Formats: sequence, C-alpha cells, structure tokens
Amino acid sequence: MGTNAKTKVAIIGAGQSGLQIGMGLLKNGFEVTIINNRTAEEVANGRVMSSQFMFDMAIQNERDLGIEFWEGTCPPGESLGLALANPEKEGEKVFEWVGNLDKIGMAVDQRVKFPRWMDEFEKMGGNLVIADADVAYMDKLSQENDLVLVCAGKGDIVRMFERDDEKCMYDQPMRALALTYVTGMTPNENPGVRFNLIPGVGEYFVFPAYTTSGPCEIMVFEGIPGGPMDCWQDVKTPEEHLAKSLEIIERFVPWEYERCKNVKLTDDNGRIAGRFAPTVRKPVCTLPSGNHVLGVADVVVVNDPITGQGSNNASKCAKIYLESIIANQGKAYDAAWMQKTFDAYWDYAENVSLWTNTLLGPPPPHILNLLGAASEMQSIADMFANNFSDPQGFFPWWLNPDLTGKLIEEHAQAATA
Ligand SMILES: Cc1cc2nc3c(=O)[nH]c(=O)nc-3n(C[C@H](O)[C@H](O)[C@H](O)COP(=O)(O)OP(=O)(O)OC[C@H]3O[C@@H](n4cnc5c(N)ncnc54)[C@H](O)[C@@H]3O)c2cc1C
Repeated sequence: MGTNAKTKVAIIGAGQSGLQIGMGLLKNGFEVTIINNRTAEEVANGRVMSSQFMFDMAIQNERDLGIEFWEGTCPPGESLGLALANPEKEGEKVFEWVGNLDKIGMAVDQRVKFPRWMDEFEKMGGNLVIADADVAYMDKLSQENDLVLVCAGKGDIVRMFERDDEKCMYDQPMRALALTYVTGMTPNENPGVRFNLIPGVGEYFVFPAYTTSGPCEIMVFEGIPGGPMDCWQDVKTPEEHLAKSLEIIERFVPWEYERCKNVKLTDDNGRIAGRFAPTVRKPVCTLPSGNHVLGVADVVVVNDPITGQGSNNASKCAKIYLESIIANQGKAYDAAWMQKTFDAYWDYAENVSLWTNTLLGPPPPHILNLLGAASEMQSIADMFANNFSDPQGFFPWWLNPDLTGKLIEEHAQAATA
C-alpha cells in the first residue's frame, strides 16, 4: 500500500452484500473492483433468485448510502400476518392475526435491483469485471489488492470456506423451496407479508413485490422434506409450476386460494425450486499463496428463507464490514482483522440463525401459546411483526417458556390497564 495510493479492495459477487459494500467503499475514497459471473443484462433476463423481502432496518442501510431507489415504486408491505392451519382438519385455520409494521418493508426483485446497482457502481467509478472467479483468480486478486471479499452468495466457490460444525444446527436441507412470481392476485386490505404455518406440511407465505414488469406478488413454498409440499421434482414447465403452486394453495390454505383465482406468472423466469442446508462457515479462507480472503453474508451464514432474513442479513453484514474496513484503513487487513470483523457480525447474526433454525422444527408449546395470544392481543401481533426488522427483539425470551409466559402476561396487563 503506497502512502498516496488509494486502498484497493476486490469483491467477488455483485449481489446484495457485494454491491452495497462496493458502493459504500467508493463513497469513502477506496478503489473497488467487483467481479461477477453474470452481466447486468443476464441477471435482468435470468431466473428469479430470491423473494428478498426486506424490513426497515436493512432498507435503512441502503437509504444511508443513497442507493435505495424503489420506495414509492415498489408496493409497500405495511403488515405481517400469520395463520395456523389445523393439523387435524386439512384446509381449516386454528387462528390468524395481522401485526402492523411501524415502518414499511419491500421486496424489490433482485433482477431489478442488482443490474441497477451494477450500473450505479460503475457510474460512481467502480470497476466491474465479468468473470467466474475460481481459486487461481482469487489468488491473483489477493496479490493485486489490499483486501479481497468473497460475496458469492450460494455460488460453488463458497465451498472453499470450511463449515463451522459448532455453529451449525443442521447438516441437510430442512425445506424444499419454491418461488412463484404472479400478477392478478386480489390484494389484501392491509398489504404485507402473510405467513401460513401448516403443521407437518410446511409453510406458505406471500407478499407484494416489484419485478421487471412492475408490481407483483411473490408466493414462497417451504415444504418439509418428504411431505406433500416437497413436490417440485417433476415440475418442468412454467405452466406446470403455476399449476402446482395453485394446487398446494387450494388444498392446504384455501383462504389464500380465494385471492388467486386470476393469477398468472409474471414471466417464464418468475419461478424457481431447490433446497440447501442452513450453514455457518469459518470466515477466513487461506489461499494456496498463503494469502487470506474474507467471506461475507451468505458465504459465512446462510439461513433457511423461512424467516426471510437472508437479504436483511446481507445488508446488515455489509454495514458492519464496511465500517470495519473504513476504520482499519492504513493498516493491514490481516487474518486477525478478518476474524474480528466477522465476530462483530456474528454477535448479531447468531440470534437470527437461532430464531430461524428453531422455526424449522415443530414450534415448542410456549411459542404456540404466544402465537395464539397474538390472535387475541394486537400488541403481541404488532411486536412479533416488528421484530422481523430486528430479530434481537425475540431475545432473551424466545427459547425460554417462563420469560415468554411473563411477556404474554405483561401484554395482557397493559391491555387491561
Ligand atoms: C427461495 C428463497 C427465498 C428467499 N427469500 C428471502 C426473503 O424474503 N428475504 C430475505 O431477506 N432473503 C431472502 N432470501 C435470501 C437472500 O436472497 C440472500 O440471502 C441474499 O441475496 C444473500 O446476499 P449475498 O450478498 O450473500 O449474495 P447474493 O445476493 O446471492 O449475490 C451473490 C452474487 O455472487 C455471484 N457469484 C457467485 N459465485 C461467483 C463467482 N465464482 N465469481 C463471480 N461471481 C459469483 C452471483 O452471481 C451473485 O450475483 C431468499 C433465498 C431463497 C433461496
């Protein structure tokens, strides 16, 4: 690092975390190269990648960098509701409630967001390179830059990072996932996220979003492996994908089917099915040269989408890393700094993973009690909904039946005071 030279950072992956950090660094006088394996055009014209609903705390990080471009265009999510399906009687509900979000959330299709951000990154003076980075490529980058960040999401390259067994709760996929982007759904009175828990089957959630052709709704299917919602293996065409989505909704959540009588796929690429294991990886990877690179967001902590936290986490991880990189300018970005930077993120992400992972198993009785109490007390429904923006709000009580009981009592007392 020459005294007058700018600090050089290379970032592999132009996704939520890579672009957010990249643009943040440019604004702070760094020289930044982002390497992505697809062009902006390929991303815009490709398959959907996520349902990417983001809550206020994560969106605020984008506003702070001046890169939040869709407020006012993207249909806002103003609420988060939950319905519990009756395990004894298919197609019936036990209860439902809707919590109001203090501040809106949004789902901007990554096929809209990432190409716009790639363009913006270049306009700010960033260097965007289209290449599929492998180990040799990373090694070369590590010799030419002061720091290399790996923001490659779920790309194959992340296997370079060792799994951290102690921090992982599962070693296999816990849900068969599918997304269906549609237009023509009857809107909810109070628009927002609707979760449907279907015991023994999985979860269905749905919310308004903004895609390449304009406003839409995104359907998310989370099927328990081997159960009736783990059913996408033989689905090949867009038509079959939509038909399968509607078949599931009509059978397990008929109250949602009512809204779906006129739905159409947004486009042939508005669908995806797959599965992955929730995994935590060690953040520092040592390359053949002995140089180190640092993993970011999904590379280091990838959770099941059941709580919709991946993009939210990526934004929060990006903010923490950005601040740490700026604070360390002029000093070495060595392995100790990398570990310390990840540890600061893990301080936050650990509880998000714990909360998400517990929802992948059958909910314990005290959590079912709380969900039931939310259908009777609006303040609990609102609290639950708003905690999605910062899931630290679920702690310390989430795993503790006594504390959860006390919380319900406090809400009950406040309601009668
Ligand atoms: C079905 C599903 C539903 C989801 N729903 C939500 C939700 O509602 N809310 C939410 O917050 N999160 C959700 N997520 C998760 C969220 O989309 C991700 O966690 C988030 O995008 C991760 O950000 P990232 O920066 O780590 O990686 P990404 O945003 O995935 O970006 C990674 C980038 O790296 C590129 N890349 C990969 N390998 C290489 C390589 N070798 N060389 C160059 N480039 C490479 C990729 O092309 C990509 O552009 C969902 C995920 C899935 C699968």
